[in-house]
Amino acid sequence: TDFGYKTVDREAKASMVADVFHSVAAKYDIMNDLMSFGIHRLWKRQAIACAGVRKGHRVLDLAGGTGDLTAKFSQLVGDTGQVILGDINDSMLKVGRDKLRDLGLVSNIEYVQMNAEALPFPDNSVDVITIAFGLRNVTDKDAALRSMYRILKPGGRLLVLEFSKTDNEALSKLYDFYSFNILPNMGKLVANDSESYRYLAESIRMHPDQETLKGMMENAGFEQTTYQNMTGGIVALHRGFKY
Ligand code: SAM
Repeated sequence: TDFGYKTVDREAKASMVADVFHSVAAKYDIMNDLMSFGIHRLWKRQAIACAGVRKGHRVLDLAGGTGDLTAKFSQLVGDTGQVILGDINDSMLKVGRDKLRDLGLVSNIEYVQMNAEALPFPDNSVDVITIAFGLRNVTDKDAALRSMYRILKPGGRLLVLEFSKTDNEALSKLYDFYSFNILPNMGKLVANDSESYRYLAESIRMHPDQETLKGMMENAGFEQTTYQNMTGGIVALHRGFKY
């Protein structure tokens, strides 16, 4: 049946995503710096600036991986706040936990294995959710967005940082060449894993563009939904509120 086919499809994607991140976890941070020429730090800085995190907030860094955003949020929420680094992949969580502990960040961070499609929190219980370079890996993105909306407090906000579509033709060509030729080779050289980096390039190409993602957020209930392009639209930062 159609349903059976979709089930197999879903499981295939989920297990492929799991394999990719188990495989890249140990080299994830260095590959991020190499692949983006360090620019991912600027994209993340902008997401943090737009997240409005304050002392005492309860923040979910979803698909948080090795915890770059969590590290900053941990300082911003202070002793009275809490940051939850949520990720489906225990290898990524472990690398993140080791890194943040080495940085001396311990008191207000929790590490929880979770699936973005069914978040293990009560309704209206989180002030801010960020998902950075995570949503494109999620199988049922609409379910994930609904789940995020459900757990946000009224007045809370969601930030989605993700690869998107550039409308500059020259940049787009250059970027395609980079993603499908250079990137897998770099993955092979540094991490001995070209397949994972080929998947990453594919998943970026398949991800909804700026306006589509904005519409998906609105369908899930988010209001005042806006986005800003960065690096010519290679990356976009979407923001939406729950009222
Ligand atoms: N946010 C980090 C960053 O920006 O460096 C990590 C991003 S990494 C490219 C994507 C992360 O999404 C991986 O750690 C992966 O395990 C996680 N992920 C994939 N599918 C997920 C799901 N359904 N629920 C939660 N996390 C998921």
